[in-house]
Amino acid sequence: MKKKLLILLLLGILAAVPVFSGIKPELVSPRDVLWVMPGDLIRLEVKVPSGGKVKVILAGDISCDLKESAPGLYSGAVMAPGPGTDLSPSIIFKKGFGTTEAKADLKILILSPTKVLTGAVIESKQPLRSGPSYDCDRIGYAPKGCLLQVTGKQDNWWKVKLSGAQDGWVDSRTISEPVEGAKPSHAFLEGIKVLDYPSSDRLRIQLTDKVPYDIRDTLYPATLELTLYCCDLRMFEIKYNRLSPRIKEITLVQEASGMVKVRIAYGAPRFWGYGAQYKGSLLLLDIKRPPKVSEKNLNGLKVLIDPGHGGSDTGALGVYGTNEKDLNLSVAFMLGKMLRQAGAEVFFSRWKDVDLTPPASPAAEELDARVQSAVMNNADIMVSIHHNAKPVIKEARKARGTHVYYYRAQSLPLAEHIARNMGVTVKEPEYVPIWRSFYLIRESRLPSVLVECAFLSNPSSELMMLEKDYPEKAASGIYRGIRDFVTEAEKTDPEMKT
Ligand SMILES: [Zn+2]
Repeated sequence: MKKKLLILLLLGILAAVPVFSGIKPELVSPRDVLWVMPGDLIRLEVKVPSGGKVKVILAGDISCDLKESAPGLYSGAVMAPGPGTDLSPSIIFKKGFGTTEAKADLKILILSPTKVLTGAVIESKQPLRSGPSYDCDRIGYAPKGCLLQVTGKQDNWWKVKLSGAQDGWVDSRTISEPVEGAKPSHAFLEGIKVLDYPSSDRLRIQLTDKVPYDIRDTLYPATLELTLYCCDLRMFEIKYNRLSPRIKEITLVQEASGMVKVRIAYGAPRFWGYGAQYKGSLLLLDIKRPPKVSEKNLNGLKVLIDPGHGGSDTGALGVYGTNEKDLNLSVAFMLGKMLRQAGAEVFFSRWKDVDLTPPASPAAEELDARVQSAVMNNADIMVSIHHNAKPVIKEARKARGTHVYYYRAQSLPLAEHIARNMGVTVKEPEYVPIWRSFYLIRESRLPSVLVECAFLSNPSSELMMLEKDYPEKAASGIYRGIRDFVTEAEKTDPEMKT
């Protein structure tokens, strides 16, 4: 009996003493700065060993019990209190009889809903994202000079109000430090006029201010949907140009307070590119018509071929010493030859082993130079040629497949035709179109794909690539894909005929 009491007493002492002196609970997210509005959910993520209990005390009686959402990762959420309370959380971790407590480096500021903070967009066309990370989806673009209402901050990201129903996030380096006193940008949509241009239809969208927007396309049926954020409908009119029956119908929907959707039904099976730009507060949306291509060959078609990488950027490296940049170029040359023989006009983003921008330039600038080369040459389609690699050695050595990436719906048929034909010529076990947000195919307005012919990181595939007839095999798959894409488009779209 005495022994039992002694054990209980010992256990009691142990429980009262922190025994995890070596363990420091780590706040994974948010890391150091968080600004929220009263009532916003504060989401917390803490890293500590698995199988314990984690509680975060924000201030006084405001606390949050976290649940283990993945081994060693605990998450939970708590509602932000009223304005003026600055919070600096501490984390309590309990496991068995041990307890450890740590102060987080995080400072939480509760904003006042009556004070309006605004930041101005510094650079042109800044992407708006669904969350505070580059991994989060793009939900639109904010034009340069636009004043965004800031309603929060997490680490290096500002939260901005896009409408009564939608928030977005912007990289904090791309807008000016938020200040009080300025009115956020807001526009009324007053009218839309359809104009007939030689190779496109243009929608002049009359807004009273420059506001963020987003454009999405669908293929079956061919439609465009323009979302205008920080925008409301006012008395408006839509003036059609009946000489260009391709713009079949435009409908306007006030989706939420501060959000208008412009739906454009296209009167032909397919458009060949689209994009918008501001001229003052006028938003110009151009929708490109199909090129006139001969029914016998590809005469009339303009193709931009982009051999991936080059110069200081070698791309992937094979174990037998193959540089991706060189292989891309030899496939590109072969493709260019085939297209020219079929009557197409061909342009190359590079035709030598060079960078398009100075070697130390950011990757986005190098890729933008390639997009611009398609714009300058007024190309109808763009094909970027690459050879794939996987970062993990074990997977990289075994990886197989031809992957044809596309972003906009208008590019999917091109990706499908190329993938199918590559299956015949390169004969990889898998040949598929894949949707992915790569800069080149996202930012180019025209139908564009990025072809990863096969895996250079797989030594047996590299041996195939080193065979003399390989560039011809890869190029003919892409060439036949382009040809089938055009033939199919011509069948359904009488306007393409010369
Ligand atoms: Zn590459």
